Amino acid sequence: MEITEIKISDDCIACGNCESVCPEVFKVNEKSEVNTKADFKKHYNEIRTAARECPVEAIILKL
Ligand code: SF4
Repeated sequence: MEITEIKISDDCIACGNCESVCPEVFKVNEKSEVNTKADFKKHYNEIRTAARECPVEAIILKL
């Protein structure tokens, strides 16, 4: 499985958890932003964890 795209929906409440789990990929200011230059393959497990733990299911992964 490979992650080809990560989207953050408008439901994001900027709780900061995704950045805590995987700071290489997620940066949270007013809302979470994805570092598109990050190596999604290398951080696969952390990205999946961040998506699973998001309280409002705002992290949408395209696999
Ligand atoms: S975990 Fe979800 S709600 Fe929290 S900052 Fe990340 S995308 Fe937003």
